[in-house]
Amino acid sequence: MLLAKRIRINVSRPDANTLDFMQAKCRALYNWHLSQLKAGAKWSLYEAKKTLQQSRAVDPEINAVYGKLLQEVFFRLDEAMRGFFRRVKAGEAPGFPRYHPRQKFFTLKYPGMYLRVEGPTLILPTGGRGKHKRFPDVYAKLTETPPMPFREVAVTKDAEGHYYATFLSDAGESRPQADDGSAIAYDLGMKTLATGYSTTGRFVHIGGFTTYRWYNKQLDHLRSLRARCHKGSRRHRYLTGVYHRVSEKKRRKQRDSLHKAWAFLTRQAESAIVLGDLSQQQMVRKSRKCTKRTKGLHRSVQNEWGLYQFVQMVHYKAQRTGKKVYVMNERYTSKECSGCGYRQDMPLWKRTYTCPQCGLVMDRDENSARNILARFLARLGPYPDRDDVLSERSGI
Ligand SMILES: [Zn+2]
Repeated sequence: MLLAKRIRINVSRPDANTLDFMQAKCRALYNWHLSQLKAGAKWSLYEAKKTLQQSRAVDPEINAVYGKLLQEVFFRLDEAMRGFFRRVKAGEAPGFPRYHPRQKFFTLKYPGMYLRVEGPTLILPTGGRGKHKRFPDVYAKLTETPPMPFREVAVTKDAEGHYYATFLSDAGESRPQADDGSAIAYDLGMKTLATGYSTTGRFVHIGGFTTYRWYNKQLDHLRSLRARCHKGSRRHRYLTGVYHRVSEKKRRKQRDSLHKAWAFLTRQAESAIVLGDLSQQQMVRKSRKCTKRTKGLHRSVQNEWGLYQFVQMVHYKAQRTGKKVYVMNERYTSKECSGCGYRQDMPLWKRTYTCPQCGLVMDRDENSARNILARFLARLGPYPDRDDVLSERSGI
């Protein structure tokens, strides 16, 4: 399996210009091919790669871009198109690949074998040889030690203008944890990111990223300010910059809180982790009418906490620590009483489960976690293991 480590890199002004130049050319190549596809051209990786010579003739500046990066553009396009065809075949929303916008840095992917690391310096090649070489190689100063050996390096730039190199490397063997039959079930939700209930009768509460409302308000405000300016004016550009910085900050905070929650969750002693499958929550999102309340839910489920990302992270970490992850059908787990099995409607604003039959009063999420665990222990029906779930999910 692959491990990714992102390291901030420092580059000189001319080297930064070189990177910016190369990503602009790669993006242009990507977008040009995409425009052909949008106009109805057929996609073939093989045919597309053959056109690179023509592109070089049309735009000689491409020659200053490192060839492996250009190759990577075709692979990326191929991947995007494959995803598109797969979704069409599966009858999902197809989502044709999109143009890469100018204001975003087009990730530069370097195959590891062509890169050199000398002490704290990562040397990134540029295109051309001898007198045809336009830019000298980029010498990037690494702020941390990279994993060695590595398979691939992806260079990115964030909205604040910092450059990063993400090293992909093969991870070591995973350590299997002894399966002692203990398990902890989590209900993933909105009010708290995860509520767990274990076979030992212990409850675990993990909060999530809660300041997103504040950030959304700021972002909405910035957008409305910007809407009042002329597009392309200085103020418009300035506000766009601020907008990107704020949303970058929000993303970072969100990622940080996800990581903390994730680390806490996977540190628990139980040898099995049981999660509800999220498809039920999606159905909530789709089927409800868009009232003010469900609108808030929509945002929180879909974007703010990145539950899907979170589940992927749990799977990933579990594999490394040798824990088992099970995904259970989550249907009715919030509606059923964990004491007697009575079923009643539980609108999302109801935070407490009160059972009219046996008199159980319990936090809504705790009740669902208990149900999920009970379901897991009863092993009702087949549940997919990790690989099945992941392959299903990659189709989304
Ligand atoms: Zn009951």
